[in-house]
Amino acid sequence: MPSDQVELTKQVKAASDIVAVVGSYIPVTSAGKVFKAVCPFHDDTRPSLDVDPQRQRYKCWSCGAHGDVFSFTMHQEKVGFKEARALLAAKVGIKLDEPQTPQDYQRTRLLDVMRWAQAKYAYQYLEADAGEDARKYMGERKLSGKSVRDFGVGFAPITGDWLVKLAIAEGIPADVLVEVGLTATREGQRGHYDRFRDRVMFPIKDVRGQVVGFGGRIMPNNPLAARGPKYYNSAETPLFHKSELLYGLDLARHANAGYLAVVEGYTDVMMAHQCGVPQVVATMGTALNAKHVAQLRRYVPKVVLLYDADAGGYTGVDRALEMFISQDVELAVATLPEGLDPCDLLVRPNGIETFQKVLTSAVDALDFKLNRLLERDPKPSDTTKLRIVDDVLGIMAAAPLIPGAAAQMKRELIITRLLQRLGIRHEKEKVIWARFEELRKIYEQREREAQQKEREQKARENRPTVTVRPDAVMPTTERRRGEPKAGPAEAAENQLAQLLLADPGLVPVAAAQLTPEEITHTGLRRIVSELFAIHATGTVADLEALRVRLDDRPDLFDVAAHKLQFVGQQMQDREQWLARLLKRFAEMKADAEANRAKELLTNASDEETMELLRRIQQTQPKRSAG
Ligand SMILES: [Zn+2]
Repeated sequence: MPSDQVELTKQVKAASDIVAVVGSYIPVTSAGKVFKAVCPFHDDTRPSLDVDPQRQRYKCWSCGAHGDVFSFTMHQEKVGFKEARALLAAKVGIKLDEPQTPQDYQRTRLLDVMRWAQAKYAYQYLEADAGEDARKYMGERKLSGKSVRDFGVGFAPITGDWLVKLAIAEGIPADVLVEVGLTATREGQRGHYDRFRDRVMFPIKDVRGQVVGFGGRIMPNNPLAARGPKYYNSAETPLFHKSELLYGLDLARHANAGYLAVVEGYTDVMMAHQCGVPQVVATMGTALNAKHVAQLRRYVPKVVLLYDADAGGYTGVDRALEMFISQDVELAVATLPEGLDPCDLLVRPNGIETFQKVLTSAVDALDFKLNRLLERDPKPSDTTKLRIVDDVLGIMAAAPLIPGAAAQMKRELIITRLLQRLGIRHEKEKVIWARFEELRKIYEQREREAQQKEREQKARENRPTVTVRPDAVMPTTERRRGEPKAGPAEAAENQLAQLLLADPGLVPVAAAQLTPEEITHTGLRRIVSELFAIHATGTVADLEALRVRLDDRPDLFDVAAHKLQFVGQQMQDREQWLARLLKRFAEMKADAEANRAKELLTNASDEETMELLRRIQQTQPKRSAG
């Protein structure tokens, strides 16, 4: 901090009185040399908080909270130091004169326009005839006038240039309206038009309560209602970053529930607040991401994600699991009964109680996933168990490393719980950690490569780029196959070789679905792999081509020729035959996998376990980024 900033801080501190500051939030009573208050930082009824005017400090004898005017304001207002200082300075009338950059001026200008627009929309809703249908719509949803005013809800009339005309009349430059995303220019024409028309307008505020964007709900009887999206959000503007905002956080951060719940809709948030459940926010129609979590984490240690109970919610759960694993947060998941949304549920008889019960009974994302899995499949196969283990390890490995002991404890907790709930022997923990380290190295390597690529790309294009972490993309390990073993497989292998020798046209079909390593018989494996290799060079994989490739093994060539001569020529319906054979190979592979999984959970060595975990990866569906 530059010295004038230090000086300023001293001035603000000297001008602020701790008793007055604390007293502006909670009742304080004189008790001799100190003042007493009920501590706002823990749940109490007795006056545990001492406020000492002599030392200008406070201390709670119960929870240990202590500090000066700045720390009290920071905790009470849940803001950073600079904001706390600004608040105190305003109270004592000190002008801070924070250095204003051109960006600051620009931002202030845009925020002013948003505030202006919000007032205009609100007037249309509350006072104008045009807002009647909007009032009816919100009334049908049982949202009270108080809620509407608290959230600043408005209405954008259907006229295409209502806002534009108002702005012109009041001397607001049209380009500012374009910049905040409220109007747009007609392509190839002059003039502007309103982007929000015939919509209920929900102001979207930043954490300080400043309007930075709008969500517009189209009126149900508008002809476009059936076609377009029901909700239309502000486009990205210098103020509005959809992926970082949480609707209602400006109000919900003051709730004292110990957690914040994330729902899906604006009206859900409003209704929850109206029903006395203020710890509720909503994303802007995007999945909860790390930025959201970081914001919520400033106010609470725990986030509860509320999903619709329908099938669509399940992909969201995997995403939540990633957040739970990768972020320093307790992330719990809950679903509402009967596929209701919070707004519908809350207005039902006992709806509030049910809603609160759902929130408090949320379980963390890992348990939620395991519960759902074990519900559908109470006795998962060993292969399934290992898949889940490696899935979770993959997410852990891809997550940015949260430094510190807490993060390591969290990883340990996850692995222990995973083993417990899936009934995997505790001794396997060591090898699971080794696999985790291995996956992490793969990700680190990938990330280095991605960064390198990005640098190269940036250098080529010579423009700034945003650094994007490679998301949880599962690594593809090298293809490895099981140990050769003799047995019933050999009959199928024999037939395959015959078939391919009889009809070289089938070689590409087989090569696309099978690797030679899947063939256990060494001689047959060599023949098939040579046929594949010949095909790969672009030549027909016939007996003549094979002769050259088997120069070192004339005996094998004789076997091949023999097969062709005696059996292969008689085969009918070759394509169908091949399809049946390939299916058998696939089944045998799955069986082998399952057997190996079973061995792992009984008596495999750690090395074998590791190998199996690696191989399990190949059968994982690739996760998509984002
Ligand atoms: Zn306390």
